[in-house]
Amino acid sequence: MKLKLSDHFNDELPADPQLTNQRRQVRGAAFSFVTPRVPSAPKVLHASQEVAQLIGLSADDLASKDFLATFSGARVPEGVRPYAMCYGGHQFGNWAGQLGDGRAINLCEVKHQDKRWTLQLKGAGETPYSRTADGLAVLRSSLREHLCSEAMFHLGVPTTRSLSLIATGDDVMRDMMYDGNAAYEPGAVVCRVAESFIRFGNFQIFAANGDIENLQRLTDYTIKHHFPLTDTGDESSQDESPTIGFFREVATRSLDMVIHWQRVGFVHGVMNTDNMSIHGQTIDFGPYGWLEGYDHDWTPNTTDRQHRRYRYGHQPQIVLWNLLQLANALYPLVENADPFQEILHDFQSQFEIKYNAMMGAKIGLSDVTSADYKLLADLEETLQLTETDMTLFFRLLADVPKSSTVRGEADALAIIDDAFYQSPDPAGAVTASWQKWFCNYRLRLNQSDQSNADRAADMNAVNPKYVLRNYMAQLAIDKTTAGDVSLIVELYQLLKRPYDEQPDCEKWFAKRPEWARNKVGCSMLSCSS
Ligand code: AMP
Ligand code: MG
Repeated sequence: MKLKLSDHFNDELPADPQLTNQRRQVRGAAFSFVTPRVPSAPKVLHASQEVAQLIGLSADDLASKDFLATFSGARVPEGVRPYAMCYGGHQFGNWAGQLGDGRAINLCEVKHQDKRWTLQLKGAGETPYSRTADGLAVLRSSLREHLCSEAMFHLGVPTTRSLSLIATGDDVMRDMMYDGNAAYEPGAVVCRVAESFIRFGNFQIFAANGDIENLQRLTDYTIKHHFPLTDTGDESSQDESPTIGFFREVATRSLDMVIHWQRVGFVHGVMNTDNMSIHGQTIDFGPYGWLEGYDHDWTPNTTDRQHRRYRYGHQPQIVLWNLLQLANALYPLVENADPFQEILHDFQSQFEIKYNAMMGAKIGLSDVTSADYKLLADLEETLQLTETDMTLFFRLLADVPKSSTVRGEADALAIIDDAFYQSPDPAGAVTASWQKWFCNYRLRLNQSDQSNADRAADMNAVNPKYVLRNYMAQLAIDKTTAGDVSLIVELYQLLKRPYDEQPDCEKWFAKRPEWARNKVGCSMLSCSS
């Protein structure tokens, strides 16, 4: 196995001169060199051929000893200089100071087919940024990250990728629900792959430390390597500072990312500014979850149970809040708040347009105007009257025909009935609300001459049939812990084609089973991972 090394970050940005691995406050550096910990009995549990291809590795490479040694952290290949990044962040709305890669170690950047990728091990041991923790990751959270990042990619959601899931053979102590019941769990390492792992927090830490020189260096570096078009632009933006062009692009990408999250029902769970990629990609899969019942107030993260800051319906506002923090960090390079404010203001109006266009597409409207906003808002309200499975609902809705092919709204309701966790009383208020909504919906559909079949095809291209429901990941974790990786393979294959009908896999197109309703790992997750 040969990696096509193409390091830039650890070449061009200032390194922490100290090479020991003590926890410390790092100043004047973008990263610290570190060495991954050697696992005692590493074993590949799953690897993605698709991601391997992206970085120029073959199927044979995946099966090689070299692969296992490199991506478990057991051996650092020649020429590779692993490092942990220094960054800060706002956690749950409060400035937390220096955070950094406490259990992530960047191995290297590679170049393949003109694209550069950063390879990063998560859970490969301590770094100067590990603070009070051990730098390790448990199998359950690593498996969840590996499967979910690939599932997100195939859903068309911008995301970091995952090359491999490797058990380390070492046990890791965790207090899973923070209730004093700590126990040993199997450890694992995931190799994440992304253009870069630069976060909002990388800029914030320099700004917070008043290190404007390095703030400028990191910004120049990021624009040069990752946002090369932002300093050319069209004529009207000729005088614009490259920093502003960069910020605008980050804002657009972050907005697009969160709209995808809302579309598929993904709840990140910990949208701290250190968990925001400047590429507008989903990053740091921790206590994330998938909406089952459509509910704007739902969060999977028990650590956030009190204030629900990161609940489903609040995610877009949190992206905006996080962008404001990034703007504050970049401000010293521009010293003019107006262009930042304009971009943040624009985010609000763009959000309304893009969000409604997305929701419209979910119900088969390709030409949404503000006249449709009420129909869409009514839908969201109606969906929350009684527990209604989001994925099932939108998928089944594609079968509701327009015009007179069915006798009435009752027939439409029968088509989506399977989405209800309990069918509403036919004579009750919920049924009446749905009938009213369906009446308006079909009036709207009848304004278009698109056929039922064409509309269904369009809807099925944006409404996934299969998502990684929380209990599915947990089943895979239980089976893998018992020594059987077959469910990882099955779910990985299933989630590669989330929009396709897969008749052999109908069992995964179903509501969450009742046993999973209040089970830890299925509906309740903590940050402990
Ligand atoms: P998170 O919000 O989970 O992404 O993590 C917040 C910060 O805590 C980051 O700086 C992580 O690197 C660090 N962290 C989380 N878990 C661990 C761990 N087990 N060991 C060391 N650092 C950790
Ligand atoms: Mg993080």
